[in-house]
Amino acid sequence: MGLDKKIVLASGNKGKVREFVKMFTDLGLDIVPQTELGVGDVAETGTTFVENAIIKARYAAQITGMPAIADDSGIEVDYLNGVPGIYSARYSTLDDSFKGSGESVDANNNLKLLDALKDVEDEALRTARYQCILVYMRHAADPTPIICQAAWEGIIMREQVGDNGFGYDPLFWVPEYKMSSAQLDPEIKNGMSHRGKALRLLHDELTRLYQ
Ligand code: IMP
Repeated sequence: MGLDKKIVLASGNKGKVREFVKMFTDLGLDIVPQTELGVGDVAETGTTFVENAIIKARYAAQITGMPAIADDSGIEVDYLNGVPGIYSARYSTLDDSFKGSGESVDANNNLKLLDALKDVEDEALRTARYQCILVYMRHAADPTPIICQAAWEGIIMREQVGDNGFGYDPLFWVPEYKMSSAQLDPEIKNGMSHRGKALRLLHDELTRLYQ
């Protein structure tokens, strides 16, 4: 039996939806955001990116009866033993230990990270990487989900620079370009980023599966 080419994407984020639709049109895949199919958010109760991506994909597949794709991403800072990791999106809201003065959660996340590393002078101790995990499940009980993982290495800067990108980009130094990821041209970022690389890996896997 052929696999359904209509796939639910376990996200409603417009930027992500656009990115996935564009990536998989050449395979004739119809990527539909879960928000259009009445699927709400599920609690991300895992302790790893891969667990959380599987939880989201499984839930979307369960509700819709369709194959599902989900992603999970974040930044790991070595000096902080991988923190904020799976909590990257809400790092500054996790407890009351940090009172940020930023105008948004993203802004406060960056302020909290700067604060956590304020005494770390040596660049070699400020290493970090973005991680992106993408999961594809044929159905909710799929025992062998396709899992694609990619990372992007950088260094946490001592101040925020640049207006492109989002999240931790103003603090993420890209050694190859000697600038922050918020200063990079979006095309260049896409070429080297965790998400760009993971998407291309998944494209290879789905090419094998659907052709
Ligand atoms: P999500 O799982 O894609 O929603 O990402 C989780 C969080 O990780 C985001 O809210 C950001 O804080 C951070 N993050 C993931 N990818 C990037 C990136 O490419 N640039 C900046 N921050 C990112």
